[in-house]
Amino acid sequence: MGAKIQPVSEKTPLDDIPPDPKLEVTLRPALLDQFVGQARIKERLEVLIGAAKAREDSLEHLLFCGPPGLGKTSLAHIVAKTMGVQIVITSGPVIEKAGDLAGLLTTLQKGDVLFIDEIHRLNKNIEEYLYPAMEDFRLDIIIDQGPNARSVRLNLPRFTLIGATTRAGMISPPLRSRFGLVNRLDYYPAEDLQHVVERSARLLNVEMEPAAAFEIARRARGTPRIANNLLRWVRDFALVRASHPVTAATADAALAMLEIDQDGLDEMDKRLLEALIHKFDGGPVGLNSLAVAIGEEPGTLEEVHEPYLIMTGFLKRTPQGRVAAKRAYDKLGLKPTGQQKELF
Ligand code: ADP
Repeated sequence: MGAKIQPVSEKTPLDDIPPDPKLEVTLRPALLDQFVGQARIKERLEVLIGAAKAREDSLEHLLFCGPPGLGKTSLAHIVAKTMGVQIVITSGPVIEKAGDLAGLLTTLQKGDVLFIDEIHRLNKNIEEYLYPAMEDFRLDIIIDQGPNARSVRLNLPRFTLIGATTRAGMISPPLRSRFGLVNRLDYYPAEDLQHVVERSARLLNVEMEPAAAFEIARRARGTPRIANNLLRWVRDFALVRASHPVTAATADAALAMLEIDQDGLDEMDKRLLEALIHKFDGGPVGLNSLAVAIGEEPGTLEEVHEPYLIMTGFLKRTPQGRVAAKRAYDKLGLKPTGQQKELF
C-alpha cells in the first residue's frame, strides 16, 4: 500500500526528546485489532467498513476529533488498509489554492482516502470547493483570469475524505455536516495505555515487567504517543543503567529524571498552574495573559495542556477565564486565598 506524504505538524509536550522517525513507523498500529482501546469508535468503523465492502462502495467521509497523539492519523491509515485502498496525506494549512486541492483530488482512484490533518485550519475559500467534491464528487474550478476566466468542471472518483482536528469547535457547521460519521477520541485510561506500552515494548524488543509498563502508562497523560515517547526514554535509561528486565523502580527513576510527576504533569503544566496561582491569584485569567506569563503559544496551551489539566481536575475553564481548581493548590502545597477561598 502506498502513501504520498506531505508534511503534517505533530506537536507533543515531549518535543524536547529527540525524534526517532523509525519509532512512529514501527509502532503505529496497522489494523483495527492492533489499535488499543476506543472500543465504541472501533465498533462503528467495523460496521461502516463491513457495509461499504458488502456494497462494493466507497466509505463515507469520516471526521476524527481529539487532542494530539490519540490515534487519529493511525485510524485513517487503518481504514485505508482495511478497505484495501491508497491513502493520500495532507494537512489543512498546506492546501493554499484551489489548484492544490485539485492536484490532490485528481490523483485519487475510486475508494481512495484523502486524509486532511488539522482540517480546522483549512482556508475558508478552499472549504467551499470541498463541499461539492465531498457531496457530488465534482470540482468546479476557475482557470485563467479577466475576460478569459472560465469555470472547468472536474468529475472525481468516489473517494473518502478523512479529516482530523484537535479543535472540533472550529469546524464550520457546513463542513461538519458533510461527514457521515464524527468520532471524538477520548484520553485513554491507564489500563489501555499499559497495553499500548506492552505492545510497543514487544515490538522494540524491550523486556519489561508489567508494573513498569503501568508506571509509564499512568504518567502518559492519557496519550499513546506520549506513552511511546516515555517508553523510549525508559528503554534508553535502562540500557545505560543495565537494568533488565525494566522494573517499576527503573521506570520511576527514569521518569523522575524527565521531571514528569506521578500525575503525568510535565514542567509546562506545572508552570501554568504556578503562574495561575501566584501571578493571577488563581484566576480567572484570559488564555493570552496566561500564555504570555509562561512563554508558551496560546494554541499549544489550549490544545495540549489545558484539556489534560481540565480532565484531571487541576484547572477549570469558566466564561470569565481560566481558574485553578482545589487540586492545583493541593498539588503545589498551597492554600487558596482571597476570592478562591470563597469558592472551595
Ligand atoms: P494523532 O493523529 O491523533 O495525533 P497518531 O495516530 O499519529 O495520533 O498516534 C501517534 C502514535 O501513537 C502512533 O504512531 C501510535 O504509535 C500510537 N497510538 C495512537 N493510538 C494508538 C492506539 N489506540 N493503540 C496503539 N498505539 C496507538
